[in-house]
Amino acid sequence: MINPVINPPGNAPKDTDGFPQFPEFGSKPGRPDWTFLVAYIAFHEHQKGEKVSASRRDIQQRFRRGNGSGVSKMLRRLVKDGFLEVEHPELATHAYLYGLPAAMPVEEKEQWIELGELLFSPKGLLGRFRTHPSLKHGHIMPNGFLVLAILLECGSQSALEMKKAMKHIMHRNTTQGRLDFLTENDIVQLEDGQYSPTEDWEQAIIRYERANSLETFDIELKRRIAAERCRYYEALAGGADLVALKKFLRTGSCIECGEKPAGQVEHFPPKLWLGFDHPDLMHSACPGDNEDWGSIVKSLRRPNFDKPIVMSLPIETDIKRFAATLMASVHRIFLEGARTGDMGLLELSVSRMESAWPLWYWSHITEEQSQRIHPADYVRPAKPVVLTDWSIVEGIAKSVESSRKLKRDRGRRG
Ligand SMILES: [Zn+2]
Repeated sequence: MINPVINPPGNAPKDTDGFPQFPEFGSKPGRPDWTFLVAYIAFHEHQKGEKVSASRRDIQQRFRRGNGSGVSKMLRRLVKDGFLEVEHPELATHAYLYGLPAAMPVEEKEQWIELGELLFSPKGLLGRFRTHPSLKHGHIMPNGFLVLAILLECGSQSALEMKKAMKHIMHRNTTQGRLDFLTENDIVQLEDGQYSPTEDWEQAIIRYERANSLETFDIELKRRIAAERCRYYEALAGGADLVALKKFLRTGSCIECGEKPAGQVEHFPPKLWLGFDHPDLMHSACPGDNEDWGSIVKSLRRPNFDKPIVMSLPIETDIKRFAATLMASVHRIFLEGARTGDMGLLELSVSRMESAWPLWYWSHITEEQSQRIHPADYVRPAKPVVLTDWSIVEGIAKSVESSRKLKRDRGRRG
């Protein structure tokens, strides 16, 4: 079956079979998606004439990767293995600039830039797919779109020809895996040993993305990244006071053993539960104790902050002070549990936290602050219902009493 050339050929060099000619690297990263990333950074660095911003959030947004720590790991590894160089300008917070290492041989650099142009220039093989959420890791991914792009440009091909064409940048198993994936999802078809895009491959991609809710995921990812950024700036750039406080706390005495300077800052409630940088939640800690607390917290169940809490307090209660006192008492229970290894106390601290945190949160953090500082992947605690007006409680008690009385009276009559 002959396929029309849907994508007008780009400016890529072609080999004798009409395939785009990929540079042959002396060494490249162990994984295909990492190769794509180096090429991406090389291309943009070359275009801009300076290193490019590629924090894990940038990469998450551009390559639609869901897992932030996976991206950080990948970037660190690429730097360690000498494929990238990272620069962190001291003056700008949260700005990591990546480029090819100064020590990389010129010929190798040229190869990376060449691959980057082939893939990512406006006329490049991946250019038309750049806004697709299925570019995301775990879905069609850049290597899947590349396979499709070549089939669109060069017409139907056998698996063998495809593997040959891609061999410099992708292992043959990866090429086969991507062909299988595209075929399973009706984006590509296999007929008489020849792969070609299906008639409605564009619709098939959209169907796949809908079925996997990738668009929703994309919107959610953008929202999460924006919230994380806000929180980051709040904590660092916007919160000069917090930075100063942390510095001060590190010079203080460890709240457990008194070591001075403590050297670290711990959070209670732990960040793993719900805590964040807030002056009232940070304490001086030595590295040893901080590490112990960290592993204890990991071994405990995570408190449930979703269930609504009803508290009745005397009307004259200063809720904010009460919440701070309650939090401090939970902290003491936790410290005592950690010191003695008493599981009962540690569990008590978890269950007390379930009422302490919502009360603390909603009395210390305004709605507007909450929008800005709360990372979206954390669950905001349900707002507690605090009954300070005793007439309501008395009203409820009275109605309960009267219904009981009614029952009793009916019982007597019957
Ligand atoms: Zn200590």
